[in-house]
Amino acid sequence: MSIQRDVIVIGAGAAGLFCAAQAGKRGRKVEVLDHAKKVGRKILMSGGGRCNFTNMYAGPENFLSDNPHFCKSALSQYSQWDFIGLVAEYGIAYHEKTLGQLFCDESAKDIVNLLLSECNNAKVKVTTHCDIISVEKNAQGFTLHTSKGEYQCESLVVATGGLSMPKLGASPFGYQLAEQFGLPVKPTRAGLVPFTLHEQDKDVLAELSGVSVDASASCNNTSFNESMLFTHRGLSGPSVLQISSFWHGGDDVEFDLYPHGDLLEILKSSATKQPDANLSTILSQHYSKRMCSVLLAYFNLPNKPMKQFQGKQLEQVADAFHQWRIKPNGTEGYRTAEVTLGGVDTDYLSSKTMQAKNVDGLFFIGEVVDVTGWLGGFNFQWAWSSAWVAGQHV
Ligand code: FAD
Repeated sequence: MSIQRDVIVIGAGAAGLFCAAQAGKRGRKVEVLDHAKKVGRKILMSGGGRCNFTNMYAGPENFLSDNPHFCKSALSQYSQWDFIGLVAEYGIAYHEKTLGQLFCDESAKDIVNLLLSECNNAKVKVTTHCDIISVEKNAQGFTLHTSKGEYQCESLVVATGGLSMPKLGASPFGYQLAEQFGLPVKPTRAGLVPFTLHEQDKDVLAELSGVSVDASASCNNTSFNESMLFTHRGLSGPSVLQISSFWHGGDDVEFDLYPHGDLLEILKSSATKQPDANLSTILSQHYSKRMCSVLLAYFNLPNKPMKQFQGKQLEQVADAFHQWRIKPNGTEGYRTAEVTLGGVDTDYLSSKTMQAKNVDGLFFIGEVVDVTGWLGGFNFQWAWSSAWVAGQHV
């Protein structure tokens, strides 16, 4: 005897739980199945434990996809303001950290509890430790063979997320299911991920491990002006994570390590006002002493009194800091990536409902779809928006 449900959602993450609650509110009999032992594990880890649950300025321009228009419908049907309203309804205190990024004041648990309450109110059943063995389509909908028995449902929602952080339950299941039903999957790669460096760069720059600096990072005609962090393996911090999603193996990345001013003007004026001061003394008014000494050596710049620099040499110093080009060796990969770029081809999904165009009753939502947000709460907003839309149609 199979267990009968109107809707089965595979994946009890941000998108799956939110979609299930919407469908349940419409009176649908819904069950969420997840192979992990706990629900919403990425939410709990997110935003340093405080969950950057949305961004006040979220718009289609903050997402990467082969079809940049695809996300527009879902984002306008259920916007950041709708989710912010729900967070407020639950009395969850939050604050803007920077650049419109909204974080819980207390804990990411508040967001998981919100989702579980919404599911509970809508009589949604959530089952963990459930391995999905196979899925078949039949006249009534779908049959799922699982470690918890056989299920039969009219609508099936795939909300299994991407490949990042396999330790938190990530699996390629959603992509495999898409291919089983004839939906192509755009090539996947790690996004919002630290860069690793070639030995010759790492050997010198690792000395700066733990140092953070304001920096604009540019690659493939895109720039982000936030902070960057030197690590013992390479480069990280918001600027780096952001640009990593636009980077392809072999590309150079250009950093402006003095993004808010004109270093050449500063150096020229220092050469006049403090002619006997060394370059490192002048630079240490803007960077830590350690950073000055490591970077001067790394850029092969002489540390001599300012009066000994010719105009052209000052330009070289300014250029080294304003236009530092480096070729990363690679990224840290899915082990530490916050997201997975690529995914289920949006050409095969309805942007209005998230339903597969070629399979009635099959929906894909959240990160498994080829829509990836920038760093800053955009990925959760995509999870909420795509989930809400599917929740109205399953
Ligand atoms: P997920 O949340 O990944 O959920 C997928 C679910 O499917 C999981 O519960 C998983 O166990 C289950 N599953 C997978 N395979 C199977 C299977 N075969 N069978 C059954 N179940 C399966 N985004 C932000 O916007 N703000 C942040 O602050 C933020 N911080 C992050 C921090 C970290 C460390 C990480 C890794 C990501 C962060 N993100 C953040 C990204 C965000 O977490 C994801 O984009 C979002 O969780 C995607 O939601 P989802 O529901 O599509 O997938």
